[in-house]
Amino acid sequence: MKVIHSILELRSILKTQRLEGKSIGLVATMGALHQGHLSLLTHSVAQNDLTVCSIFVNPIQFNNPEDLKKYPRQEQKDLDMLREGNCDLVFIPSTDEMYEQTTMIQFNFGHLETVLEGEFRPGHFSGVGVVVSKLFNIIQPDRAYFGQKDLQQLAVIKRLTVELNFPVEVIGVPIMRESNGLAMSSRNLRLSDSEKETAAQLYQSMLKTKDLIASGVSFADAIENTKNEIMSLDNLNLEYLEIVASDTMKVLQNAHDTTDVSICAAAYVSGVRIIDNLYLKQKN
Ligand code: AMP
Repeated sequence: MKVIHSILELRSILKTQRLEGKSIGLVATMGALHQGHLSLLTHSVAQNDLTVCSIFVNPIQFNNPEDLKKYPRQEQKDLDMLREGNCDLVFIPSTDEMYEQTTMIQFNFGHLETVLEGEFRPGHFSGVGVVVSKLFNIIQPDRAYFGQKDLQQLAVIKRLTVELNFPVEVIGVPIMRESNGLAMSSRNLRLSDSEKETAAQLYQSMLKTKDLIASGVSFADAIENTKNEIMSLDNLNLEYLEIVASDTMKVLQNAHDTTDVSICAAAYVSGVRIIDNLYLKQKN
């Protein structure tokens, strides 16, 4: 496994590999890796001749400077995990390498970013759009793997790829969870064991919402019921809980005409923001 810090060097290596007919998979991360990231890596390694994993804490997607400052970093452990997972190339650029000049470009993803994460993290998806576009241009992967954990991000990236004609197949990979149901996340490193138990209650609540809907309760009533239940819990502060079309993120009142439907939620546990989602209905 080779670790590369320079865009020029990465481009040169990949050019040679491409000329040899090798297919390239990309797994883009912000480091502090866990099994969720490794699942993306496993998919890429299985489907491509060469896998590039990037580790870059992208400053322009953080709307909260404190969150950026506290974002966990553990490069040596990450490299050990990637080596173990058969990654071929790791790209770890500095901020100056990625942003030689202050970014002037901004993306506006329309209604895709006015709800859920977009509403609570203004500018976040523009920052994601810029960094993913850069990585697609630098690496020119055949396939790129993103977690369904960040469902809205996946929808934004799929849209970006179609609209800007990136010749990349964007593949969504299912959420990896801890044994208590908590969706794995780098930010979980900032939670104690008991806080992780509290955080897992968000997923338990979403499961109950799903059950309520399966038993015939309307979306509105199921959501209200779940919100009330979460509000009665200590230390779990809900930011949003909505039922949406998984591809457009449009908030739904019912699922009559929609094939792909998800419950999406965000909450704070002891100052750490967690997000999660659960499919209610999924296209095969
Ligand atoms: P991050 O390092 O948080 O930016 O995540 C990098 C990639 O890993 C993104 O595509 C995430 O959606 C994905 N990811 C993060 N957590 C999980 C998880 N628990 N299961 C599956 N994919 C994940």
